[in-house]
Amino acid sequence: MASRYIEVKDDNQVRDALSFGREEGLNILILGGGSNMLFHSNFEGLVVKIASRGIQVLNDDGRVLEVVAEAGEMWHHFVMHTLESGWGGLENLALIPGCVGASPMQNIGAYGVEIKDVFSWLEAINIESGECVRFHLEDCKFGYRESIFKLEEKGKWVIVRVAFRLDRQSELKTGYGALESELSEISKTQITHTDVANAVVKIRNSKLPNPDILGNAGSFFKNPVIDHNVFSDLELNYPEIPNYPQIDGTVKLAAGWLIDQAGWKGHSRGTHGVHDKQALVLVNRGGASGQEIWQLATDIMISVEQKFGITLEPEVNQIGMI
Ligand SMILES: Cc1cc2nc3c(=O)[nH]c(=O)nc-3n(C[C@H](O)[C@H](O)[C@H](O)COP(=O)(O)OP(=O)(O)OC[C@H]3O[C@@H](n4cnc5c(N)ncnc54)[C@H](O)[C@@H]3O)c2cc1C
Repeated sequence: MASRYIEVKDDNQVRDALSFGREEGLNILILGGGSNMLFHSNFEGLVVKIASRGIQVLNDDGRVLEVVAEAGEMWHHFVMHTLESGWGGLENLALIPGCVGASPMQNIGAYGVEIKDVFSWLEAINIESGECVRFHLEDCKFGYRESIFKLEEKGKWVIVRVAFRLDRQSELKTGYGALESELSEISKTQITHTDVANAVVKIRNSKLPNPDILGNAGSFFKNPVIDHNVFSDLELNYPEIPNYPQIDGTVKLAAGWLIDQAGWKGHSRGTHGVHDKQALVLVNRGGASGQEIWQLATDIMISVEQKFGITLEPEVNQIGMI
C-alpha cells in the first residue's frame, strides 16, 4: 500500500505535493491512469495522481490549429473530442488507455502513427526545483516507445500539459495492418478521420481486453528492432515472419507473433497468463502478484530468446523492482 496519495488538479497543487514529498523525504511516483506500470512490491512513498482537466485551442488558421490538453485528461476522451471538433491527426491513436500527461513518456503509437507526428510542445514541472519548463519536439528525443523522460530525464519531471498541432485536412494513414481491410467497405475518397478512429476502436476492442474489466498490462514488450542481416537469416527459417522495414535499414518485428510462435498465446497460470487473442498482453485475472507477472514475463523472454535468438525488452514501467 502507498504511504501517501495526493490528487493534484493544477500546477500549484503539483508544486505543493512535490514540496511536501521533499520535506518528508518521500520517494515520489507520478501516476496517470496506471495502465503502463507493473508493481513488483508495494510502493512506499508519495503517489501524486495527476487529475487536472482542460482542453484549449491556442492558434487556429482555419485549417491547422494548436490544441493543448491538461495532463489528467483521459487520452481517448481527448482524441474523440478532437475528432468531434473536426480536427485530424490523432485518429489512429484512439482507445489507447491512460492520460494525456503520460502520452509523451513513451511517445505512444499505434497503426502507423506516433504522437511525435503531431506533437507541438509540452510543459513539465521539475520535481526538485518546481520550475515549469516548455519542451519542444527536438527536446523530447522521441523514438520508438522512448523519450527523454524515460532516458536521461527519467524521474525528474511532472508533465502538466501537452500541445498538439492538428489539421482539419490532414492526410489519412490507413495502410497499417488490419486497418486497411476494416475500412475497405468505405470508398477511399469518402473516408473521414472519424471513420479511421471508429475502425481502430473496432479492431482494438476485438483483440485487446479492457483494463477496467480484466487487469492487464498491454503491449508488455516492445516490438524488437533488429539488424537487416539478422532478419535475413531469420526469414530463411520463418518465411512468414511479419516484418516492418525501417528507414534506417533496420527491421521491426512483431513481438506478439514471436511470443505466439513460441507457444505462449492463451497460456494460463490460474490467476494470470497470456491473453488468448493478443500474445503481447499479460493478464491478471485477480490475485496475481507483480512478481508472479514478472516471472511469467521472464519465462516468455527466455523462451523467445531460445527459439529466435531475439531479446525482448519490456515496455511496461517497472515499479519497485529489486
Ligand atoms: C490494453 C492496453 C493497450 C495498450 N496499447 C498501447 C498502444 O497501442 N500504444 C502505446 O504506445 N501504448 C499502449 N499501451 C500502454 C499505455 O496505454 C500507454 O503507455 C499510456 O500512455 C499510459 O498512460 P497512463 O496514464 O496509464 O500512464 P501510467 O501507467 O500511469 O504511467 C506510465 C509512466 O509514466 C509516468 N507518468 C504518468 N503520467 C505522468 C506525468 N503527467 N508526468 C510525468 N510522468 C508521468 C509514470 O510515473 C510511469 O512511469 C497499452 C496499455 C494497455 C493496458
